[in-house]
Amino acid sequence: GKTSTFVNAANSDYARASQREAIQAALIHVHRQLGQTYTPIINGDRVNPREYSESLNPSQPEEIVGRVGLATIEDAEHAIRAAKAAQAQWQQTSVAERATLLRRAADLLEAQRHELVAWMCYEVGKVVAEGDAEVSEAVDFCRYYADEMERLSSGYDRNFPGETNHYHYQGRGLAVVISPWNFPLAIPTGMTAAALVTGNCTILKPADPAAVVAAKLAEILMAAGFPPGVFQFLPGRGSVIGPYLTQHPDVHLIAFTGSQEVGCRIIAEAAVLQRGQSHIKRVIAEMGGKNAIIIDESADLDQAVAGVVQSAFGYSGQKCSACSRVIVLESIYKPFVERLVAATQSLNIGPAHLPSTRVGPVVTAAARDRIQEYIAKGQQEAELLLSVPVPEMGYFVSPTIFTNVPPTATIAQEEIFGPVLAVLRAETFTQALAIANATAYALTGGLYSRTPSHIQQAKAQFAVGNLYINRGITGAIVDRQPFGGFKLSGIGSKAGGRDYLLQFLEPRVITENV
Ligand code: GLU
Repeated sequence: GKTSTFVNAANSDYARASQREAIQAALIHVHRQLGQTYTPIINGDRVNPREYSESLNPSQPEEIVGRVGLATIEDAEHAIRAAKAAQAQWQQTSVAERATLLRRAADLLEAQRHELVAWMCYEVGKVVAEGDAEVSEAVDFCRYYADEMERLSSGYDRNFPGETNHYHYQGRGLAVVISPWNFPLAIPTGMTAAALVTGNCTILKPADPAAVVAAKLAEILMAAGFPPGVFQFLPGRGSVIGPYLTQHPDVHLIAFTGSQEVGCRIIAEAAVLQRGQSHIKRVIAEMGGKNAIIIDESADLDQAVAGVVQSAFGYSGQKCSACSRVIVLESIYKPFVERLVAATQSLNIGPAHLPSTRVGPVVTAAARDRIQEYIAKGQQEAELLLSVPVPEMGYFVSPTIFTNVPPTATIAQEEIFGPVLAVLRAETFTQALAIANATAYALTGGLYSRTPSHIQQAKAQFAVGNLYINRGITGAIVDRQPFGGFKLSGIGSKAGGRDYLLQFLEPRVITENV
């Protein structure tokens, strides 16, 4: 295939004193701003809501990160009307202009890099290095989709004597973006950037536990110059405004990242034709995973242990790409598991803002309780091998390893979204692959092996959207590893890849008899 010339944003280098000082200063500066109030932005105006939700610091829940106004159904209706009114003009705005606004947003994100890392650290408990990579990803999404839209905008021509044919794209209409809390900056930025640059007026409904970071993104998009009505920010209770937005007859497109349950519900709701609706809605849904890494007898164990630990426990396992199953060949089971335990025990667990912390808390008390239920369930189904002690304060969950987990156990089948790793045994490599594929998901997968035939077999048979060989399975980079899965993991679109924008566009062909 064609090669790419896209250049990814560079992460901070904390080996340099100046960068370490910059992030420390930002953590202090942002800490002084905790507890402020944020509001929905509708048609360019901040609306004063009746109700607010409080976003807490999961490392220190007595700290209120911010109060975010909750949009009502009337607010949602106003936003939809404003978007409808702005749609024709936005669709006619040149691609060059739309791409310019996105590139401006990218520059603003980069300029506020350290502050944004600090906000993510305080609001969702993300450690500094992972937050920094997330800012880079958000920047990349803006620049990449700007480039991509320019590439697509020329369309193509097929001309014959007496007939010209022109193939091109236009926006679909009004877009609703429903974003998750686990990548509170990169994912809403990516979905929103894609929807906007393709010519769709866009309403962003962020996840409640990450609404302050989303408000920061909204400020950046407004500052970049997206006109009132073109981009609107609509924090609110998902159970109230979520269905209102997805069922609204004037909405054309819904871009969602989150759980499989909510994703399937949105797809079902969006499929029902409402009164006055004269189009079929397009849903772009990126959902869960139950991702496995296979370790065969030829694996480099140093590499494998480090990759599994980071993939399973990085951001406390709260990534849809996270490793929640490791499938180990019998012949290497004992030494691998011993080293896995030692490496997990040495993880530094603590408040997300400390430079020494590798693993922070989970996002909310409710998330902690739900993960604890899975751990209790795991104790009935398998053997609890390791539970690392964690701080008492804050929403911490022990990095937990279960061994001898049967492939059909609940903890080997359901997405836990926490720091819980199931170790499974396999007699042969073929059996390991069969176990890996025996879930309803197909998002990421990994293999540590130095056996060419195994690598070949995995490439052909491992049913995942993103397969990683001899490396960890999280941290996909825009343009290099377009990200997304199939089966119950989603509808097969790849964020940060060449097909992604096509889903936000309506193709047209104009034939002229000349
Ligand atoms: N793209 C992220 C990664 O590769 C995961 C995104 C998600 O959890 O939704 O780690």
